[in-house]
Amino acid sequence: MNATKNSKKRDAVRAFIMNSSTHPTADEIYSHVKTEFPKVSLGTVYRNLNQLEEAGEIKRLSFTDGPDHYDRDTSIHYHYICRKCGRIYDMPSGVKEAIVNAVKSGAPGTVESHDLVFYGVCSECLKKPEIKDKV
Ligand code: ZN
Ligand code: MN
Repeated sequence: MNATKNSKKRDAVRAFIMNSSTHPTADEIYSHVKTEFPKVSLGTVYRNLNQLEEAGEIKRLSFTDGPDHYDRDTSIHYHYICRKCGRIYDMPSGVKEAIVNAVKSGAPGTVESHDLVFYGVCSECLKKPEIKDKV
């Protein structure tokens, strides 16, 4: 495999994540890259994801029980996970500002890192009627 083809695959992995607001998993990224490079392996996708993460271009999210998700936004921001559909949403930046300001005035020293995840049922799922169990 020559270097050009490898970097084209990495470009495809990167582009898919950058165009996605849904925090895709490696499997979702793999399915997409496969449409462009039918012979690509899941291992290659993982290798590219690791390289992009090490280069600081993407962020790996591993706060769910399921597979890791990948985020195009590498800055500190908060997430919201729907316990029904499992979708991961970004919380609005105003929430972060409010919390960071409160913590800054109350913390007994510097705060070097933090992360925050909210859980609930998303508005899409709230719209759907409950599926009744069959008797
Ligand atoms: Zn949902
Ligand atoms: Mn995010």
